Amino acid sequence: MSEALLQIAGLKVRYGAIEAVKSLDLHIDEGERVTLIGANGAGKSSSLKALTGLLPAAAGQIRFAGRSILNLAPHERLTLGIAMVPEGRGIFARMSVLENLQAGAFLRRDPQQVNLEIRQLFEHFPRLEERLQQSAGLLSGGEQQMLALARALLSKPRLLVLDEPSMGLAPIMVEKLFQVIDDVCRQGMTLLLVEQNARLALQVTDRAYVMDTGRISLSGASDQLLDHPEVRSAYLGE
Ligand code: ATP
Repeated sequence: MSEALLQIAGLKVRYGAIEAVKSLDLHIDEGERVTLIGANGAGKSSSLKALTGLLPAAAGQIRFAGRSILNLAPHERLTLGIAMVPEGRGIFARMSVLENLQAGAFLRRDPQQVNLEIRQLFEHFPRLEERLQQSAGLLSGGEQQMLALARALLSKPRLLVLDEPSMGLAPIMVEKLFQVIDDVCRQGMTLLLVEQNARLALQVTDRAYVMDTGRISLSGASDQLLDHPEVRSAYLGE
């Protein structure tokens, strides 16, 4: 069997004496949509930060596209194709919408293709086109989330990592955002989604991991976890 696109084994992440991730095992095949759900403080964001290189791993292994990436800097992981939209979006508020989009493509050497893709992205994100020269900080929360997603897509990732994309958004914006995510996934994008809204996360993904105090407590097909008694009582409020 060929190796998964992403393979995480025995990952540990510490903040001093606090062990935020005790032992994480997870894999994602190319083209899969996978979600990591769990209560506040379970260790989801810390796991994503270790994946993208923003935090060091205290132990364990992370392999991407057939090689270990543990010793690579964040920008090197981005070059390999791992792009994350962080919790809180991380857009450059004082820069224009266009400059934010261009920043997403800063590692690329094909400016004409980048311009073409920016124009194509406007089909998904018409509001961004209308506000291209405006400071990104003036956009609404939903528009900023769209901008953060568009910027990540311009790096042409093999794996798109989203941390809490629905946070703070009105339901209509969440629906629009997930339509776009669904569209890009249908075109072959691989997705790792951390999402507080567990029902939504399970509805839009193929497979799911449930994280509890630093480790995986359950995993399986997302539609099956939607019916799992433990998931229903702990994460779906039933
Ligand atoms: P949330 O949904 O609330 O973001 P999470 O599952 O993403 O939760 P993490 O943010 O990874 O969880 O936090 C895991 C644990 O690590 C928590 O106990 C948290 O208090 C702790 N932690 C997170 N960031 C830090 C930090 N910078 N310094 C110390 N402890 C931290």
